Amino acid sequence: MRITVLSGGIGGATFVRGLLDEVGDDADVTVVGNTADDIWLFGLKVCPDLDTLMYTLGGGIDAERRWGRADETWSVKEELAAYGAQPTWFGLGDRDVATHLVRTQMLQAGYSLTDVTRALCVRWDPGVTLLPMTDHRVETHVVVEDGGRRSAVHFQEYWVRMRASVPAHDVVMIGIDDAEPAPGVLEAIAEADVVVLPPSNPVVSIGPVLAVRGIADALRATAAPVVGVSPIIGGGAVRGMADQLLTGLGLEVSASAVATRYGARARGGVLDGWLVDTSDASQLPVVAEAGLEGRAVPLYMSDPATTRTLAADTLALAREIGTRS
Ligand code: GDP
Ligand code: CA
Repeated sequence: MRITVLSGGIGGATFVRGLLDEVGDDADVTVVGNTADDIWLFGLKVCPDLDTLMYTLGGGIDAERRWGRADETWSVKEELAAYGAQPTWFGLGDRDVATHLVRTQMLQAGYSLTDVTRALCVRWDPGVTLLPMTDHRVETHVVVEDGGRRSAVHFQEYWVRMRASVPAHDVVMIGIDDAEPAPGVLEAIAEADVVVLPPSNPVVSIGPVLAVRGIADALRATAAPVVGVSPIIGGGAVRGMADQLLTGLGLEVSASAVATRYGARARGGVLDGWLVDTSDASQLPVVAEAGLEGRAVPLYMSDPATTRTLAADTLALAREIGTRS
């Protein structure tokens, strides 16, 4: 079985960890990671979502923080701060810096981000084929109001420094119009037996992946069922600040609103099936109205066992959809 997952960082990586527990060696899993969070810092190319995926699946993640390396130290960050070097708000750990140094050196030698990601994964052996959504530079910027004036800040600055505490008026993906899918991405969708949209942020994680030319069309064209897992439980994002971002953009924060935003493949959208939490079962009629096959199952990935069960429920829905069509 071939499974292709379009993913952001923490939510997607946690889900894929459970998916691998569920399928074992019975499936080839390809993960297409969002790269619109990427940022150049101190001359280093940092890819937060790819690294969260790589460290989570490869066993190097700080399990409590859920980003960056375990057993991390912060000497580089402290030394940069002692020079007054800006920005000071990004968590650049010493171990993590080695990843960014290797990546940047390879990029500057002419390798593509796809090549670099493959090379980094030799060390981490994440158990999946990890692909960036594109080899082109794409950066999400968030339009905020600053002292009565509108300005755009890099998504990382909005998320990490501002903690999403000021309203987002708009989200702009700089470079997206010129971005082509990375090698292997369209094939991974076309040749998959199941495609999954895990519980990742719909606007700033899955949004950029779907906005890369050809990817949404590939989802509409694939023979595989496409199923998604809601990142929203009740009226909020489970962890983090996604609800503030969505509210600022004027989007309703609910499982069914995210489903409606993705839309049914039969009606020009990208999904066939959608999982909501059991506590959101009352939203299933809205999901059905959107043309999607909905199910209510526990969506909270509180430990490896519940996450694995969620992955099994996701594959079960895909199987049901697949056998009907
Ligand atoms: P990021 O790139 O690191 O922000 O990670 P993602 O975009 O992949 O995922 C972030 C989203 O995951 C959050 O906005 C939450 O809505 C969602 N999330 C986090 N934990 C859980 C969970 O246990 N269950 C579900 N259903 N969603 C979760
Ligand atoms: Ca991210």
